[in-house]
Amino acid sequence: MRYGIIADIHSNLEAFQQVLKALGLVDTLLCLGDIVGYGPNPSECIELLKQYPNMTIAGNHDLGCSGKIELSDFNTDAREACEWSQQQLSEEQRNYLQNLPLTRQVNKDIILVHGSPRSPIWEYVLSKDDAITNFNDYRFRICFIGHTHIPVLFEEEPSCIYGLVKPQPNGIIRLNRESRYIINAGSIGQPRDGNPTASFAIFDHSKWEIEFYRFSYPFETTQEKMKKEGLSSFLINRLSLGI
Ligand code: ZN
Repeated sequence: MRYGIIADIHSNLEAFQQVLKALGLVDTLLCLGDIVGYGPNPSECIELLKQYPNMTIAGNHDLGCSGKIELSDFNTDAREACEWSQQQLSEEQRNYLQNLPLTRQVNKDIILVHGSPRSPIWEYVLSKDDAITNFNDYRFRICFIGHTHIPVLFEEEPSCIYGLVKPQPNGIIRLNRESRYIINAGSIGQPRDGNPTASFAIFDHSKWEIEFYRFSYPFETTQEKMKKEGLSSFLINRLSLGI
């Protein structure tokens, strides 16, 4: 099985379309949540995702934009974008987001969570220490995550040595079948690692290999749409900076 690993689309249709083209043939998309929030095309991104075989889980923005959780835990920009998104979604789309599971077991090896196994919606796994706690408390061989918008691969070797790899674009990483992993493929619609291009990965389960990709997309188009809708200038500007 070849899986397209996608996360944090954030209503960015231009980036999402570009990634779907670049992905080519994969068996299933594993979508790590935050389909919506921040960007100008929430409905279109949901409908586009539904056209592909996918296994998708909820992110905090999916639940915020569908009214399932309170917006008091979001910062001002995120909250205002959620309120705007709520107005754009149909009832069917709100139901779809509300009913996304928080975690998913893809097969005997792979689980999906937006934040972390310990806190599926809210925890940011940024450091080795964050990863170690989750390795220790939960059983999985590979856990794909999103939420931080930063591509990274954490490894727990059988001898409990822990590693952190910042993946290079277009480089294949051969995983060790004896190790366990927490892997973030980065964000499609709002990358935050200083590189504004859309980030995603392909995992080949039979070969136990993962390849990370970056693709540019016309973010000026997305920014223009956001301006027209009156979304915050901070959210608009960050797309060209990758922050
Ligand atoms: Zn996000």
